[in-house]
This record gives sequence, C-alpha cells and structure tokens, in this order.
Amino acid sequence: MVINEQEKKFQLSRRNFLKAGVAASAMGVIGAIKAPAKVANAAGASLKYTAAAKGQWSKLHPEHDYGSATVHFAENNDQWLGTTKIVGKVKNFSEADMGFNLATRGLLPNKKTQAASLSFFFRHPFGAAIANAGMFIAPPAAVEGKSSPKKLEIPDPEQMSQHIKDAAYFLRADEVGIGKMPEYAYYSQKLTDKAGLMTKPVEECVIPVTERLPYVIVVMVDQNLQTMLGSTGYDGISGAMSMKSYHATGNIAVILATYIRSLGYNARANHAFNYNAVMPPAVISAGLGELSRTGDCSIHPRLGFRHKVAAVTTDLPLAPDKPIDFGLQDFCRVCKKCAENCPNQSITYDSDLVEYNGYLRWNSDMKKCAEFRILNEDGVSCGRCMKVCPWNSKEDSWFHQAGTWIGSKNEASAKLLKTIDDMFGYGTESIDKYRWWLEWPEMYKYPAVAQAPQTH
Ligand code: SF4
Ligand code: SF4
Repeated sequence: MVINEQEKKFQLSRRNFLKAGVAASAMGVIGAIKAPAKVANAAGASLKYTAAAKGQWSKLHPEHDYGSATVHFAENNDQWLGTTKIVGKVKNFSEADMGFNLATRGLLPNKKTQAASLSFFFRHPFGAAIANAGMFIAPPAAVEGKSSPKKLEIPDPEQMSQHIKDAAYFLRADEVGIGKMPEYAYYSQKLTDKAGLMTKPVEECVIPVTERLPYVIVVMVDQNLQTMLGSTGYDGISGAMSMKSYHATGNIAVILATYIRSLGYNARANHAFNYNAVMPPAVISAGLGELSRTGDCSIHPRLGFRHKVAAVTTDLPLAPDKPIDFGLQDFCRVCKKCAENCPNQSITYDSDLVEYNGYLRWNSDMKKCAEFRILNEDGVSCGRCMKVCPWNSKEDSWFHQAGTWIGSKNEASAKLLKTIDDMFGYGTESIDKYRWWLEWPEMYKYPAVAQAPQTH
C-alpha cells in the first residue's frame, strides 16, 4: 500500500499520541488507586481533573462492558477527539443541513425524497407507534427549563458522576459515559418547523443555538441483538429498531435533565425528537465509541452500531471520562464489509481518510444513504451496515468474544477476523427464528405527494 505524506504524518503522530495516552491513563489509574483526586468544582477548573478508570465510579455497573476488545484511553483536545484527528476549524452545522432535512428542502439529488421525507418512518405501524410515543418528549417543555434557584453544593464531582451514571443505569441505559462537550457538536441553528422546510425559506424554520455547557452525559441503549439477527437490516423492523432505542434513550435523558435542573444546575436533554447538537462527537468524548468507515457514525466495542444514544448537556460539576481507542481505525481500513453490503453503495472503499469540515474521516456519501433510507421500498429506513459490521453481527458467543479481542489488535488481525466473519457468513444471514414482527409490504411504497406523519 502506498502511504502518502499526510497519512504518514497521521500514523506517526497517532502512534506517539497513543503512547502518551496509554501512559497518561495508566498513571491516572495508579493515581486514582493511591488517592482518588477530589476536585472542588470541575465546571470551573479548566480541565483539571484526574481521569477515573472507565466505570470506576458506578456502583450498579462497576465496569464499562467493552466485550473482549482491547481498549486504550485517548485524548480530547484541539488536535484529537479520541482517534479522530482534528486538522482545522470544525464548523457548527445547522440542523436544516442534515440529510433528512435536505430531503425535505428538496436539496437531495433524487427529488422523490422530498415527498416521502416527513412520513417514511411512519410506514410500519409498529415503528409509527414508537415514533408517536417519542412526540410526547419532543416539546421544549420536556427537554429544557429553568434550573432551581437553590443550587445544591457538589463537593465531589467524581462521586456525582458515579451517581449520575447509576441513575442512568437504573433507568435502563445499557451504557453511560460523561465527556467534555465539544463546542463544535452544537448545532449552529436548530429546526423549529420541520414541515415548514417544504414550503418556507429555511430562515423561517430555524432558531440559533446559543447554549454552551461544559459537560455531556451520553446514554446508550442496545437496539436488540435477536431482532437484528432476524432482520435483513432494511426490512419492516429496521426503522422500529432505531425508534425503540431513540425513544428509550430520550426518556432517560429527559428524566436526567429534569433531575439535574432540580439540583440547581443547567441541563438540556438532546434526543432524536429534539436535538440541540449532533451526537457522534459527544459519544466519542464520553468514551463510548470511535468514528467508523460509514462516515459520521460511531461504533461501540461491544454493541457495534447496534445502539442509539441521547445526551444531557449540563454544567453540573462532573469528572469526565476519556475517549477510547479499540483499534477501529485500523480495522475499518481493511474490513470494508459495510461497503460491500450497502444496498445503495453509499460507503467508500477508500483506504485513506479525507479531510471533511476540519477533521479526518472516511469519505462515505451520507446524502446517498439518506436517499436510500427515505425511498427504501423493501421496508423502513436501513441499518444494513449496522447488521453486517463484525463488531456486532454475531450472537454473544465465546467465538465472537475471541474475534473482537483479535480484531482490536492491529491491521493483520483485523484482516483475519474479517476473513473468518465472511467464511461463516456472519452478519449477512437473517435468522428466521428471531423474525417476530409483522411485515406490511404494501405500506412501504413512497407517497407520490407530501404527507405529514400520522401523529395525535
Ligand atoms: S444505512 Fe443502509 S444505505 Fe445507509 S450506509 Fe448503511 S447500509 Fe448503506
Ligand atoms: S463493517 Fe468493517 S469497515 Fe464497516 S464500520 Fe464495521 S468494522 Fe468498519
């Protein structure tokens, strides 16, 4: 493989960075064992914290469950967000410029997407029922509000972090992480009138996002292993799997934000039915994943893509976790299984990352992905890349555990795992015994005219 200069620099600096990161986190763990650091108020203490070992401060879930992947801690600074290299100014995005909203504005190449963009998730009655339930936590009154005038003293941000994680696990989160909130994760503008994008100038459908809070609590919920094993990844249950985890994480985020405001601190829930920010940078900052070949989607070392997240941005004094490195960048470089299986060829086969909005990532085409998800007539939306990815595509067996342990080592072992994965047909099969849902093929056709979702 020919390595260009940029790639060489990236690999070298990444290696040095990893050495420093591993050493720093090892020292952090030793320090924490000897004398856990107590920071009076992390919110005002310009990053002066001692990183706790992952999950050290949760009682209900004492260790983050990374499966058997080998995980190192990485950094969150102006050059790196975990294993993502920052190479310039990362600009804040307007929510109106995200894939589905570009469709509603009539700006995707395939114009059929405009008519279908508001209603496609509602084509399956079960997915529609979950999405309808999500509408109850969508209004501003559910996600934000004034904090209590009585501010409770938080003498120990690490203990508070443990408490918040335990509260989230109690509310049935599968994973929880706390990160420094990357400023560029905030939307520049958020949508207030999604349906209005069809007919009005975009300026009349958005408001500026002015919030800047220092921390982000990220909650993650599994989309369900058995259902994923039964699904093709783009059949009738595909959209409902997303909705199920959006709804579950959204509920947890709304409760946590309300609770934190009652303690006297600012807190805002961000979930699929009302975001102020994009989630992948928050996920990486909170130590719950790395960016993958699919572009801006992150992978968790145990759940792969098979999850959704919601988040709470807050100034509650907390001790953030560190981003993680489980070898995904090397793995994605050789694997390409998602690209081979994407029904719309939206995922790149490139071996090199490209610069995009001030950071390096794979050059996958998220507009093409949005088009397929909106117009898919074999089901609702799509998660085929989620299904086939070797990080989440198998039953929870010792063989899979051994595979991910091998896969997180280096490029050569990644090749080995991908080969074994393909040999056994993992990820591409639909296991009949798990297909519990009903299919409604006649409902999957896109509407010829614009159609609003069937809500209350
Ligand atoms: S969601 Fe489907 S269309 Fe989009 S990148 Fe993944 S496999 Fe391709
Ligand atoms: S399928 Fe392979 S290349 Fe695609 S995201 Fe998963 S590990 Fe990376």
